[in-house]
Amino acid sequence: MHDLVLVGGRVVDPETGLDAVRAVGITGGTVTAVDEQAPPGRQVWDVTGQVVTAGFVDLHSHAQSLTGLRLQAMDGVTTALELEAGALPVAAACARAEAEGRPVNVGFSAAWTDARMHVLDGVPLPGDGDLSLDLFGRFQNGPRWRGPATDAEVDRILGLLDDALDEGALGIGCLVGYAPDSGRAEYFRLAGLAARRGVPTFTHTRYISTEEPGTSLEGALEVIAAAAGTGAHMHMCHVNSTSNRMVDEVAGAVETARREGVRVSTEAYPYGAGSTVVGASFLAPGALHRMRLTPSSITWLATGERIADEAQLTHLRATDPGGLVVVHMLDEDDAGDLALLERSFALPDTAVATDAMPLVGPGGAAVPDAWPPPASATSHPRTAGSYGRVLRWLVRERGLLTLTEALRRSSLLPAQLLEESVPAMRRKGRVQVGADADLVVFDPDTVTDRATYSALVPTSGFRHVLVAGTPVVRDGAVVEGALPGKVVRRGDR
Ligand SMILES: [Zn+2]
Repeated sequence: MHDLVLVGGRVVDPETGLDAVRAVGITGGTVTAVDEQAPPGRQVWDVTGQVVTAGFVDLHSHAQSLTGLRLQAMDGVTTALELEAGALPVAAACARAEAEGRPVNVGFSAAWTDARMHVLDGVPLPGDGDLSLDLFGRFQNGPRWRGPATDAEVDRILGLLDDALDEGALGIGCLVGYAPDSGRAEYFRLAGLAARRGVPTFTHTRYISTEEPGTSLEGALEVIAAAAGTGAHMHMCHVNSTSNRMVDEVAGAVETARREGVRVSTEAYPYGAGSTVVGASFLAPGALHRMRLTPSSITWLATGERIADEAQLTHLRATDPGGLVVVHMLDEDDAGDLALLERSFALPDTAVATDAMPLVGPGGAAVPDAWPPPASATSHPRTAGSYGRVLRWLVRERGLLTLTEALRRSSLLPAQLLEESVPAMRRKGRVQVGADADLVVFDPDTVTDRATYSALVPTSGFRHVLVAGTPVVRDGAVVEGALPGKVVRRGDR
């Protein structure tokens, strides 16, 4: 007798290639049957006409509030990992998530930027596990953290990251693109630490530009070289945005490096615009031309308005460096730009990862946790719509990815990227007996993103989303109060 049996659904399991109508039994948070004949269950849900597959494992989520994670659950996410920016101390972030409860599984990398801010600028590390990007935003203009460090300081920075790995960090998050004048030797030593500890790193590459020196290609080659030179698994975050207009060059280098056995992996999200803090070094007025942008390419989320001119950009960077912006880098209405964006996904084995962002209220205020989120809350649409958009746009409309391949890149592939250091990830990304019952049930013909640059609307089409067998989305609606998410830690079995 199973706790719950899903009957009549089209089960897609990218690892075994199964794509057939099967009944799926779930007991105590685990998949306990995948059969042609429906086994007996205490509850039986008819999901005829729907796809049943593994829940999505997002490698890149800064949307760690309850509301943010619920928006992600509506988009099919059952595990939302903060691996690019990370956390420090990691024990505090894990403890907070466990004390408060989370709708989906979460986990954190060790935050290199936080370690640098602490060692170089004396920024106190938050003991409360705050993950709002507050620290990153508030101390963005700190005097030294974006520049070079002495050998002794690098020792301390890496020591903090080493400690965080002992606390369960899933790897090292490295926003080197926000500290472009930090040392190359430091980055290489960081990769060496990752290799020694057997964990991946997650890099926002050093440069976004087509202009020499400091091109997007140069930034990507640094990651590839660190992998080749240390043996570490180096993961490149959002190749769609940091590759900018050099995606072909970056993709070619990544493909060849992989063929040569270099451990480099990639992820992308399906939007032409990026989102970050306005104080980011690459948004300095004097640097915008490097991305062929102007101040009016940037939307200030606190007001929803485009930044008027250089004077306003300079003012905002000085007074509110952590304020969030949307940066319109590629024009989604331009066929050439859209083709560039698609080529990030044409690169084989690029995982789908969202880069989901914290929500912003009117005037830049924090958004209190509530469901549904207030209509005034804004964010980059990737926060709410990335997976629905891949399934609608790249699978259904463009045929660039098959359904199975899109699902593989959203669940199995990201789980596999973490399996060496987190054996428990072998139970995620699969619909197989013994796998975690992190499952999504959706209509492949109608599932669609609805979030836009002006309205943060949840994805529709995910009928049920189960985390450890517990519905967090049921009949297309968030189940309030359902907090079955667990913290994923390095070494979990
Ligand atoms: Zn980034």
